[in-house]
Amino acid sequence: MSKTQPASARVRSVGVSDSGAPVLSDKQRSYKALFDSFTQDSEGRISPFEVLTRLRRAGICADDRRIQDAWSALDTPGQESGRLDLDRFIAICQRNSGIISRAIRGELVVPDFPRFVQDIESIYQELLNERSGAVANYIPQLGRVDPERLAIAVCTTDGQRFSVGDHSVNFCLQSVCKPINYLLALEEHGAPTVHRHVGCEPSGVRFNELSLSDKGIPRNPMINSGAIMCSSLIRPADNMADRFDYVADAWRRLASGGRIGFNNAVYLSERDSADRNFALGYFMREKKAFPSGADLLHTLEFYFQCCSIEIDADSLAATAAALATGGVAPLTETRLFSTDNVKKCLSLMSSCGMYDYSGEFAFHIGLPAKSGVAGALLIVVPQILGIAVWSPRLDEVGNSVRGIKFARMLTEKYNFHAYDGLVSGDESGKRDPRRRKNETTADGVVRLCWAASQGDLDDVRGTIATGIDPSTSDYDGRTALHLAASEGQLEVVRYLLQQGANPHARDRWGGTPATDADREGHTAVARLLTRAPADDKPAAVS
Ligand code: GLN
Repeated sequence: MSKTQPASARVRSVGVSDSGAPVLSDKQRSYKALFDSFTQDSEGRISPFEVLTRLRRAGICADDRRIQDAWSALDTPGQESGRLDLDRFIAICQRNSGIISRAIRGELVVPDFPRFVQDIESIYQELLNERSGAVANYIPQLGRVDPERLAIAVCTTDGQRFSVGDHSVNFCLQSVCKPINYLLALEEHGAPTVHRHVGCEPSGVRFNELSLSDKGIPRNPMINSGAIMCSSLIRPADNMADRFDYVADAWRRLASGGRIGFNNAVYLSERDSADRNFALGYFMREKKAFPSGADLLHTLEFYFQCCSIEIDADSLAATAAALATGGVAPLTETRLFSTDNVKKCLSLMSSCGMYDYSGEFAFHIGLPAKSGVAGALLIVVPQILGIAVWSPRLDEVGNSVRGIKFARMLTEKYNFHAYDGLVSGDESGKRDPRRRKNETTADGVVRLCWAASQGDLDDVRGTIATGIDPSTSDYDGRTALHLAASEGQLEVVRYLLQQGANPHARDRWGGTPATDADREGHTAVARLLTRAPADDKPAAVS
């Protein structure tokens, strides 16, 4: 049985064709195609839950502000809530930046998100068995954290999210505050000024080593001396409370509304046991490395406060994703940092982000990352996604053992290493998450169906010429012949039949090309299809 189109499934058309059929704009047509991919009830309406389920599978969570705004806009007085007709569906799709339609069409940056999630989950399970390393205890309060904790969270540049384990438990940023302090300093002063006070060379020694470059400045912003220096550059004229609010607010925006806390016990504990950082501070002051007017004690306290900011893995992944986009928070679609500054920050994370393991990390993993002694690891896969891993046991260098193992396992599976692009996917055996399943076939089908619906005979011919089977169907079982028949594209129908397209193909609602043509009032096309294929003589149809 072909699917009939009840009145509520029809969208307000932009006009009426000669045959009386509604004429839809391209946009309406594409929304209608989206709508038609959902199960419709007898009145042609769809379930909002099915829409949410499809979004969830694509990685768009129900609490995503981008879709919540769209949803709540529909709760207008006089509007029946519940099932959606085509007009309301279009209104929802139009209330956001296309995220709903792109998610449903599988056009987000990681199209096969469920597969990616599955891989992350299996890595998570394996990491649970890894128990080597030790929790940092040089800051006494940090030593009290449960060493078994493990959280993994990912957020793509399109805001597709997934997390597992202790992903909503807070931990201290510690050194993960360093790239953001560097970015805040860059935004405020520009790179030339910032780099008069801090270099951009890997140090090759421990993160708190008492050593400066030949110029008497910290070697880079990702080690303690460099981070203390960057802290001195953030809002230096403001009082301490305002400076802290400023940084905390930057984190709040990076976390796209996620919870940001402050661990006062860790702050006090670190301040009381910070001889090394004080020594670094005095060393730099003696070398006149600080900007003029910087107060050393205030600077150090401000740095300790930044290290004691608390965040959970979900929010840290959103932060990493904002770096992956080049400075735009994907969930709020707001720009937080300039792309140029993010580029500088990612470069330094790549060369200096993992303490004196940075060289090996760049070699094996090939991604910008930053670790902290509370066990957090922020990883950026530029233009694809951000990742947060939290597991408190550290190796001798100070990096989370499970964090490093996660990065290794992930980059063994996926072609995320900066230079994986040099090796073809087939040779490396690594997956490209940006590719759709059966991408080549899928693209061909879409192109063929679109060209057929538009009556673009040249492009139909061109697509068939690439070797695609004229009877191939899309996810819903719709073939090019269905599309051409629905739109009354007589010449295309004739051509496809000649090419051997199956006139009896049924879509997932049971419709054939002939029933589509019939429904839309394209009698010549319907006639041609019912006589097909044996007795189709091109000249015989008028
Ligand atoms: N607050 C810590 C310190 O200054 C941060 C170090 C780290 O995470 N590596 O020692």
